[in-house]
Amino acid sequence: MDGQAIFGAIEAGGTKFVCSVGTDNSIVATTTIETTDPEETVARACLFFDKMRVEMGCIRALGIGAFGPVQIDPSQSNYGCILETPKPGWAYFDIRKAFMDRLAVPVWVNTDVNCALLAEAKWGAGEGVSKLLYITVGTGIGGALMHDGELINGWSHPEMGHMLIARRKDDVVGFSGVCPYHGDGCVEGLASGPALLARAKAPLHTLAADSPIWELEASYLATLCLNVMMVSMPQKIILGGGVMQQSHLFPKIRKNFWQQCNGYLNGGISESALENMIVPVALAGSAGALGALKIAAHGYLNSSTLR
Ligand code: ADP
Ligand code: ZN
Repeated sequence: MDGQAIFGAIEAGGTKFVCSVGTDNSIVATTTIETTDPEETVARACLFFDKMRVEMGCIRALGIGAFGPVQIDPSQSNYGCILETPKPGWAYFDIRKAFMDRLAVPVWVNTDVNCALLAEAKWGAGEGVSKLLYITVGTGIGGALMHDGELINGWSHPEMGHMLIARRKDDVVGFSGVCPYHGDGCVEGLASGPALLARAKAPLHTLAADSPIWELEASYLATLCLNVMMVSMPQKIILGGGVMQQSHLFPKIRKNFWQQCNGYLNGGISESALENMIVPVALAGSAGALGALKIAAHGYLNSSTLR
């Protein structure tokens, strides 16, 4: 660590906050706390950073990769605020201000998926590839795009989990989807971890790899991948999140992607090319933290470009 600047990072999720300290390219220490109400969660996260300051010295800046929707545009007065969310107590909570006030350091905020993509692009499955799509399939579904090193955001960050897709006719009778906004009308409502649990009514790791539930899942995720492919033509699609620990999903998704595409992309790609095009994360659990360290370091050194 000799002489290297130390930064803080938080992967702020709906179920857990993963708090880390490290340099601009490596994690030195990490702790995980449960996400409860905003005040208690912030207070407990700060106790970790207090302890790290004693052990490691000054923390220069903090990067937060937050669940969305969250204001990620530093030019906006509500930069760093969580926006509309059904998570109790979190709607419109100013997470950036809460940490700035308590820790007295500059705080940079982006989405959890944008942070994970930044890290996968630099050190992971997207290394050396210029047009990337990253999708996480966990408690929710989120996506991030990068073209030539730049994250693609519009007036807000992408919300790919709420892409409206058609429910399959062979989906489980009585299953009504889990999205509080779109029910079974969007990919998060149909294919997030909670959607799988609602159908399976059993822990997901106990489901056999040949369960029809996984075939449905692969079909919905393939639709999401294909739709984003048709919009932005990424060279690589990186899939992460708890659900994607089911590695048998990858060949199923590639097969469904190819079938749903139905020959349209034959001039540009082949079915065998999908093996290297639709791939798992390479940084496993650490991409979000590494990306959050990256935005902290980048923000600390140059506040004008990375959003
Ligand atoms: P979060 O989305 O809350 O940040 P994760 O990406 O770990 O966290 O996703 C949690 C979801 O992933 C839960 O819905 C859980 O059921 C599901 N999940 C976790 N482990 C597995 C697994 N081994 N196989 C399938 N699904 C899993
Ligand atoms: Zn939705």
